[in-house]
Amino acid sequence: VCALNPKAKVSDACASYADLDALNTKLHPYVRNLANNTDFFSYYRLNLYNKECPFWDDENSLCGNIACAVTTLEREEDIPKIWRAEELSKLEGPKAQHPGRKQQKERQRPLLGELGEGVGESCVVEYDDECDERDYCVPEDESASAKGDYVSLADNPERFTGYAGEGAHQVWSAIYRENCFSRPATTEKSQPVSGLLSPAPDFSQNQAQAAMDFRQVMKAQRPSDRLEPEDDECLEKRVFYRVISGMHAAISTHLCFDYLNQTTGAWGPNLQCYKERLHSHPERISNLYFNYAFVLRAVGKLRDYVHDYTFCTSDQAQDVKTKGMIRTLAGAIPSGPKIFDESVMFTDHTADGISLKEDFRNRFRNVSRIMDCVGCDKCRLWGKVQTNGFGTALKVLFEFGNGDVGAEKPILRRTELVALINTLDKISSALKAIEDFRSMIAAELEGK
Ligand code: FAD
Repeated sequence: VCALNPKAKVSDACASYADLDALNTKLHPYVRNLANNTDFFSYYRLNLYNKECPFWDDENSLCGNIACAVTTLEREEDIPKIWRAEELSKLEGPKAQHPGRKQQKERQRPLLGELGEGVGESCVVEYDDECDERDYCVPEDESASAKGDYVSLADNPERFTGYAGEGAHQVWSAIYRENCFSRPATTEKSQPVSGLLSPAPDFSQNQAQAAMDFRQVMKAQRPSDRLEPEDDECLEKRVFYRVISGMHAAISTHLCFDYLNQTTGAWGPNLQCYKERLHSHPERISNLYFNYAFVLRAVGKLRDYVHDYTFCTSDQAQDVKTKGMIRTLAGAIPSGPKIFDESVMFTDHTADGISLKEDFRNRFRNVSRIMDCVGCDKCRLWGKVQTNGFGTALKVLFEFGNGDVGAEKPILRRTELVALINTLDKISSALKAIEDFRSMIAAELEGK
């Protein structure tokens, strides 16, 4: 497998596409099975409805289409026992005023002894949505007291919803704006500027800026050219852009592949949609492959980590099976930097380098917050899952150390692991869909 080096420019043709396709053909069934057929990876708890858009008023951009709706699990008995409210409250860490992570762990330890066999530290749900300093994403709060809903990801596939227009463009524009590192990160409209976010203009200025960027997006023929980092931008900034653009490409692929023909009412692939959004923009497809390599590398790195992870579905046999499945998947991913070499990133350990990493992390957290501005429930669900998945991949690649003996690895929350595997599943399925679209184009050219 040729290295899909993050140093490669968006336009670089990498001979590894065929190899990555071959690898995907091999791995895709494992990923699908894990994401769809295990309780651990197919249920996700998140606060889908109760978080306001922190950046602008989004009341006019709500999507009323039935396809935008998410089916949440309302009945307790539909949720695996371990995650029902009553059980969850047993697993919550002691309530506290957001102690530091280390302190939290210490407080949880005595409680763990009381939890019984097969219930490890990873089963103790987080009870706040504050960031750990190593998080690239605003975490989902899984505790019983959080205003969250359980969703079966398998029952809410990402597909065409009809969410479009100004509301959707404003969100994309805000997401890409985070990539302009020379500009201060977006500031929330009501919250005081925290240490995390750089001082930035007030809300009205942000809103005006968002509107201006939106107009530019609409005016430019290929706004991605404008939003793309310049050639002389540093590697890390280019990677940031590629991750976002690749995520956007995956979403576009899914909506084109599972499209609603509004005349016949039938769902199926829409070749024209694919041609316009992806085929005519090879750099977007390149960014999707880039994301595949990047997320795959993170999952591969978890092989040993998951060995000691407790999957806590309260069904021991299922937990053993789930662990075996993820270890098989991780073990089948070529190890070493063959697929993606993260060691070339964030190599500058001076104050400038450290602040670049912080900036990168804060901007990614902002992208995860922007998801609360998505006016379509289904799109918001998958947007949140995927940003959390990329945030987890970044955390695994850049905060886990490079196999240093004794290096402390952050504990991954259940939601992080679930998001990571489901994000890999989304990218892997998108690559499969693109293979099908390519065959359709080939058939069309042959006049079939
Ligand atoms: P958009 O996709 O809205 O793109 C806006 C501009 O960005 C385009 O003009 C284009 O030049 C540029 N651009 C497009 N793709 C890329 C790329 N890969 N890299 C760089 N630049 C690019 N709709 C659904 O039907 N189902 C969904 O599940 C869904 N999920 C969504 C999730 C999120 C987080 C958001 C913000 C939107 C979602 N949408 C979804 C809406 C969908 O993404 C589009 O916004 C909508 O279909 C309108 O498409 P468009 O052709 O106007 O361009």
